[in-house]
Amino acid sequence: MPGRYGGRERRQGSGRPERRGGPGGHREQPEIRGRRDDARLAEELRRMDGSSYGRYKSLTGDWSFPDFTLTVERVQSDPFAPPSRVAVRIPAEVAELPDSAWHAPVRRRATADYLVRRAYRELKGARLRIDSGGQEVLDRAACQIRDGEVLLRLGIEMPGHGRRIDGRTAERELCERLPDMVDALRWPSLDDAEATAFADTVEDTCALRGKLAELGLVAFVADGSVLPRRSGVSDLPMQGSAVPFRSPETLRATVELPHAGEVSGLGIPEGITLIVGGGFHGKSTLLHALERGVYDHVPGDGREFVVSRADAVKIRAEEGRQVERTDISAFVRNLPTGADTSDFSTENASGSTSQAANIAEALEAGSRTLLIDEDTTATNLMIRDARMQRLVHGDREPLTPFVDLVRPLRRDHGVSTVLVMGGSGDYFDVADQVIMLDGYRPYDVTERARELASERTDADFAAPADRVIDARSVDATARGRSRIKRRDMDVLTFGENEIDVRNLAQLVDPGQIIGVGLAMRLLAEDGLLGGGRTLTQALDALEERLGDDGVTALGRGYAGDYVLPRRQEIAAALNRLRTLRVLRSG
Ligand code: ADP
Ligand code: MG
Repeated sequence: MPGRYGGRERRQGSGRPERRGGPGGHREQPEIRGRRDDARLAEELRRMDGSSYGRYKSLTGDWSFPDFTLTVERVQSDPFAPPSRVAVRIPAEVAELPDSAWHAPVRRRATADYLVRRAYRELKGARLRIDSGGQEVLDRAACQIRDGEVLLRLGIEMPGHGRRIDGRTAERELCERLPDMVDALRWPSLDDAEATAFADTVEDTCALRGKLAELGLVAFVADGSVLPRRSGVSDLPMQGSAVPFRSPETLRATVELPHAGEVSGLGIPEGITLIVGGGFHGKSTLLHALERGVYDHVPGDGREFVVSRADAVKIRAEEGRQVERTDISAFVRNLPTGADTSDFSTENASGSTSQAANIAEALEAGSRTLLIDEDTTATNLMIRDARMQRLVHGDREPLTPFVDLVRPLRRDHGVSTVLVMGGSGDYFDVADQVIMLDGYRPYDVTERARELASERTDADFAAPADRVIDARSVDATARGRSRIKRRDMDVLTFGENEIDVRNLAQLVDPGQIIGVGLAMRLLAEDGLLGGGRTLTQALDALEERLGDDGVTALGRGYAGDYVLPRRQEIAAALNRLRTLRVLRSG
């Protein structure tokens, strides 16, 4: 019975054990008092060997090692609970990072990411775990650099023989592997050319993305990029048989990057871009790369210089999602139910209404670039051909197809669309440029498509109504405690709610899901959703609040790993929260 007799096993100090909240809470082990250095930690761990697991709790607090400070933040109460959490602070004079590695915010994020990957490699086979991410370079809580100081957050499954402490193994982890890892992360121990090149690449990617607007582009795909992935379940680049990207001359753009110098590739202009081509010729692969182009990629990924506007949102149909007071009237009018589609709610949207809501909400979250793939759309929202119009008359059809709205969206609201559509020529009428993929190579077929185009009368697209969210309907707590968890990449548990995030294509890292939950909590608990702010304004306020602190401003005592998400995904998750209430729409 670990907690129960905890008090008796205590060796040091006289602090009265506190009760922990929650059912089955264990008695808190008093912290170990007196000298708290690495030698003492080793000694304590050896002494604990074989005693009841709950005694690990007495390790809570700071331990000073010669080169760093270890903070034991949270200790699991039994071997089967989620891993314990520790933080490591490596002072600037030990880390010895050159200013060039961290002064600029972009390089700071890149170097932190580099360090976290290095730490991950160093910890292979250890019980210590660090959240090192996949192919994207993101702002993650696992490693932050502040004034040259390196702060790491790790998990560790504290070792046990059944419910008894395995002090020897714990000693090896915390007193040997950890200092070795810290040593490996010091700049003098690193491959500084590699670390510098890593930051250079990320800086180049950001510079490239930053240039898109002035060049009048929504995306750029560098020549030589490798877009296809190894498999449907691997995000690593395809090897061997991948056909490298090569831009068609007529759409080629050349940009000057700070480190890589001149880079040429396909520049996708603002406006309406159609991607056509036969099945299996690489259309979706290109669009997927553009979806991910809002993030920076690690060197060697193949998509380092594949970028899209930071606000680009993948739009898809999502049958079954709920919709809360969203204005979809541009797309849907005169439903058989008589529902007011300018203030539309449902617990169970159809393919077309869900996609309409996804578009309206993406605009509300600030996106002006839409990415759409025929593979995941509702056909009846995308097109209605001439024969169908003759059979089903306008007054019987509540839907205005996207093909009639895509130009007004562009003209009146500055929204660009990149659309994969191999199955219908209707979009020839509205496209500004048409790119055909043939054997994974893009060709500019705009002229040819224009010859095949017909006249088309556009519909109107009135900007969707702004919504004000009721902050009380966004509750991160369950039974009085904050609860933010995730299940794989599918579900965000937020308080008493489960939010289905499976269809958010641009959530690419598990930590982002937690980050989304933490951001939602901040929006609600800090009054950002209040004060009469619209959702759009609340998201602006959130970005301002996060400011330079980035991801760590989200955490607030959250013990696990998390990553900074985009505002688009935060909004998308909010919109899928089943308890969400909208105070005002209009
Ligand atoms: P589409 O959407 O045109 O039907 P996909 O993008 O789904 O085609 O691609 C079909 C297949 O071709 C996928 O297995 C993909 O990995 C592969 N592929 C895509 N681009 C390339 C490329 N540049 N080189 C080699 N294989 C590719
Ligand atoms: Mg496809």
